[in-house]
Amino acid sequence: MQKRTIRQIVTGLPASDGAGVKLKRVIGQPDLRYLDPFLMLDEFRSDQPGDYIGGFPAHPHRGFETVTYMLAGKMRHADNHGHSGIIEAGGVQWMTAGRGIIHEEMPMQEDGLMWGFQLWVNLPAEQKMRAPRYQEFGSAQIPELKLANGLVRVVAGRIQDAEGQWLEGPVADIAAQPMFLDLRLESGDFLLPTASDWVGFVYLYQGELSLDERQLQVGQLARLSPGDELQLQGQGRAIIVLGKPIAEPVVQYGPFVMNSQAEIEQAIRDYQAGKF
Ligand code: MN
Repeated sequence: MQKRTIRQIVTGLPASDGAGVKLKRVIGQPDLRYLDPFLMLDEFRSDQPGDYIGGFPAHPHRGFETVTYMLAGKMRHADNHGHSGIIEAGGVQWMTAGRGIIHEEMPMQEDGLMWGFQLWVNLPAEQKMRAPRYQEFGSAQIPELKLANGLVRVVAGRIQDAEGQWLEGPVADIAAQPMFLDLRLESGDFLLPTASDWVGFVYLYQGELSLDERQLQVGQLARLSPGDELQLQGQGRAIIVLGKPIAEPVVQYGPFVMNSQAEIEQAIRDYQAGKF
C-alpha cells in the first residue's frame, strides 16, 4: 500500500461573495487556483447574521457543478426553471448546472449559526452543455459509518465497514466519480483505502488532525499526493474529497467554466439573450 502524503498545505483566505457573505476561500485563490477536478472550495461559518443575511441573489452557472453541504443552519435555493428546495444541516445539494441555470441561494434564518461548504466540481467537455440536474439529500439520507473512534458520513463514493459491507453515498452518476466524506474522529487513527490516481484533499474544519506526520490547523486544506491509502490521526472533523481529474483546458469567467474563450463568449451571449 502506498500512503498518501501532503503535497501542499493551503490556508483558507477570508473573502466575500454573493451579497456580502463572509467566507473562507480555500480552492480558487492564489495559493491553489484549481485542483482538477475541483474549481473552488468555500467554507462559510458565522453566527453573526450580518455575515450571511445577504445570501447569494440570482446568478447564473454554466459548465460545472456546485455542491452545497451544510453543517448548521438552513439555505433556500430557487432557480429560473421552477426548481426550489431547502438545504438543511447535514444535507447536501449536488447541482449539475450543465448548459445553464440562474438561481439564488438565500439563508432561511435571521440569527444563529450558518455553517457549511460550497464546492465547485468541473465537468468534462462532453457534459458541459448537458441538461441541468439536481441531487438533493437530507441528513437522514446520508449513510453514516460508526467507527470505534468516530463517525464517517458518506455523501458520495463508498467505503467498507469492519465486516466488509459497503456503504454508498446517495450522490451518484457524477463525471468526476467523487468521494465526499465528512469524518468526525474522536481519537486514534482513521485509515481509508483510496483510488490511487484520484486527486483530492482533506480540509480540517474543527479540532486537530494530523497526516503524513504533519498537524493541520482548522481552516487548512492538505492537498494529497497520489496513493491508495489515507491515514489521519487525532480528534477533529474534516471533509475528505477525492475525484478523477478531467485534464482539459479550463477557461473561467466568474460562474461560467468552459474549455475555450469562444465558449465563454457564447455563454455570456446566451445568458444575455435569456437562454439559460
Ligand atoms: Mn450558485
